[in-house]
Amino acid sequence: MCGAPGRPIVPSRGLRVYYARMLLPLAATAGAALSAWAYGTYEPNSPLFGRAVGRGRTRERVAYLTFDDGPNPAATGPILETLAAANVPAAFFLVGEHVRRFPAVARQVAAARHEVGNHTLRHRKLHFRGPRRIREELDRTHELIVDTTGRVPRSFRAPHGYRNPFVGFATRRLGYTVFGWTFGVWDSDPGVSADEIRARVRRKLRPGAIILLHDGDGYDPHGDRSRTAAALPGIIADARAAGYAFRPLGDLVA
Ligand SMILES: [Zn+2]
Repeated sequence: MCGAPGRPIVPSRGLRVYYARMLLPLAATAGAALSAWAYGTYEPNSPLFGRAVGRGRTRERVAYLTFDDGPNPAATGPILETLAAANVPAAFFLVGEHVRRFPAVARQVAAARHEVGNHTLRHRKLHFRGPRRIREELDRTHELIVDTTGRVPRSFRAPHGYRNPFVGFATRRLGYTVFGWTFGVWDSDPGVSADEIRARVRRKLRPGAIILLHDGDGYDPHGDRSRTAAALPGIIADARAAGYAFRPLGDLVA
């Protein structure tokens, strides 16, 4: 054996402090950028990738009903009947492929003068898509809605609320107001009953709330939304009993 036993290579205290001073701010900046990006992507009401309306700015007891992922051959009709009977306006964010499959149901929604919005062609999560794909998802749905219903959509909601900067470009081109929501109640969860859907809305209701419900399934054109349809008369009755009035989401379109 020769030489001294090897000393473990430990940076001197001075060097450690130097590294910490150099690297910590960098890590903090990268972390902050990442969390900002995540906020813009996953938070449906974030303004980072373009303004999104998540609530009506009011202290009045008004609320806005919105239905995503239709048209649906079984649930949309009963929901329209409930809304008509109660004289309540709503907004429907339609999936392009479902409009193509069920044009008569889409026309029923439009004929009832509800707000008709764009919810992409195939209900793809858009946050990792590029500009061409995002434009295609939005533009083709826009055309399908116009051709099928005769109405020109003015509003957009991203599937799951996921966005990136290209979503902002595409919606601005179409002149859309982008909507998020104030609260959802997980009504598309197959384990939740109509009574529970109703109770969750009652508990969460507050002035200006944009309520997210589903008359369809973004992926399965025949998805079961009968529980949402069954919950709706009670949702409307509870809200009115608490002094709320339902207003058209179009009031919040820029
Ligand atoms: Zn959806």
